[in-house]
Amino acid sequence: MPIAILPEEVASAIAAGEVVERPVSVVKELVENALDASARSIEITVERGGSGLIEVVDDGIGIPRQEVPLAIARFATSKLRTAEDLFAIQTLGFRGEALSSIGAVSRFELISRAAEDGTGSRLIVEGGHSSDLQSVGSPQGTIVRVRDLFFNVPARKKFLKTETTERRRISALVTRYALAYPEVRFRLSQEGRDAFQSSGKGDRREILAAIYDVEKARELIAIPEISGTPFRIQGFISPPSIHRGNRRELTFFVNGRWVQDSSLSAAVVQAYHALLMVGRYPMAVLFLDLSPDAVDVNVHPAKAEVRFREQDVVFSVVQRVVRSTLLGQAPAPAIGLGASSIRGSWEESDSSVHSDWQLAQRLVEAQEVGGGIRLQSALPVGSLPLLRAVGQIGAAYLVAEGPDGLYLVDQHAAHERILFEALMQAFEQGQVEVQALLKPLVVTFPLEQSELIDQQFEVLQHIGLDVEPFGQRTYRLRAIPAMFVSADPEKILRSVVEDFEEDETPLAKETEAKLAARACKRAAIKAGQVLSMQEQQKLLCDLEGCRLPRTCPHGRPTMIHLSVEALERQFGRRG
Ligand code: ADP
Ligand code: MG
Repeated sequence: MPIAILPEEVASAIAAGEVVERPVSVVKELVENALDASARSIEITVERGGSGLIEVVDDGIGIPRQEVPLAIARFATSKLRTAEDLFAIQTLGFRGEALSSIGAVSRFELISRAAEDGTGSRLIVEGGHSSDLQSVGSPQGTIVRVRDLFFNVPARKKFLKTETTERRRISALVTRYALAYPEVRFRLSQEGRDAFQSSGKGDRREILAAIYDVEKARELIAIPEISGTPFRIQGFISPPSIHRGNRRELTFFVNGRWVQDSSLSAAVVQAYHALLMVGRYPMAVLFLDLSPDAVDVNVHPAKAEVRFREQDVVFSVVQRVVRSTLLGQAPAPAIGLGASSIRGSWEESDSSVHSDWQLAQRLVEAQEVGGGIRLQSALPVGSLPLLRAVGQIGAAYLVAEGPDGLYLVDQHAAHERILFEALMQAFEQGQVEVQALLKPLVVTFPLEQSELIDQQFEVLQHIGLDVEPFGQRTYRLRAIPAMFVSADPEKILRSVVEDFEEDETPLAKETEAKLAARACKRAAIKAGQVLSMQEQQKLLCDLEGCRLPRTCPHGRPTMIHLSVEALERQFGRRG
């Protein structure tokens, strides 16, 4: 084909695709416009996951009648005049692209009335073509209705996920904006039902309760006012008892704008180091307020990313503030804690006065002491008391008696913890005891996995897996950590390699602990394994010797405790 300039309709539909990727992008742009217009109330109505209708009604300043036609023109904005203004952006919008982009790919209706106008103005845009301006009665503020999104861009329509997925993204967006702007009243209705509502009274905890549940909202830790930081940081973080399998619950607002930022996520994740294990991530909603010239907001078509002028400073402030918030949560150490004799963790210890182990230990305790109302009542502070094995249930749980009641111990989780600590301690001292295999094991891996192994020989060696190349995609395993002798060496190697694969963003520091946890999971005794009385007692004794006996390396509990008091209450002997 010869070169030809694209017809305007096609060009604008293509340009619109940058800004409007899916229904939630429309909701985001419209909500941001309402916020920029100082709305106190924003009502969002969604039908068919946003493909049928997206309506956003606000009570903001409205658009003056003569400006309404301009509002839907590309690169028309009331928020910026010169390129220098980009360094001082106080509004969420600034490019003047949203309304024109949305109008290019939907049947679009705008009704708005500014305070100075007697009547409202109405404009219709269909696939980029706009109607004449009409007069309609309307209260002050703006109503935008977006119908049949992507009706003229079938390719884009095809890429939309199910309505359920789109709906979920929309709720996630609206609830997060509600959190960021607690003084604004939000209301979201999806498919004719009220999905979410905030009061606009400024109480973030209340909004958290509406998003999660009252209990979880209560447990989230508020970042206290911290003076002396180069910028303001507010928000909520989860205690170590609440965690997720991915980073999706890490939310960041920078100057009132929801952004995705892997370095901010990494800062938060690092702040939890040694508190959450292997593949578990915290929840956090953080609001950062920087001077506008410290952030470049003009780096992403949908404004979903920003660039910090001093990335390192932002990273370390976030990490420190989160960590010290966690630290501040921990109660004073109890007598006989014995943690002071324990040196820093397996990972490079940070500069804080407390060793990570101490911190972790105290947090686990704080958590347990706090959870008093539950049946599994507060565990006594400090290391485990002496436990007497009573027996096994379902070949999976050990029943044990302690001075303060009954313990139910998950044998697999407990053994994982024991192996994990033994292995990590050996790493720390640089002396993992290895056991040569009688007959070296030859294992072949798929190409992608073998590439990963080639990069990680040293780490494997370090954790006691003696692996050497043995032909294409094939390796010879010569030795394994001695404590794993009873496990299947091939399975251990394979699961460790799988771990390389699963790790989305491997942080070198985490690798060892992760691998160790993975290997221990493989090597630990399983549920279903019948244990002799001696074996049960040995397991309990070994667990008593652990630094963090109450959770497995993946963060799950190893035991449930029923205090004598709780038992008495259950049997009605006590009020
Ligand atoms: P931007 O937000 O980048 O300026 P938009 O295309 O989103 O670009 O909006 C264009 C202009 O229309 C805005 O600059 C603003 O003046 C006006 N506008 C859009 N939505 C609203 C609203 N809800 N209330 C008041 N004015 C609005
Ligand atoms: Mg806008």
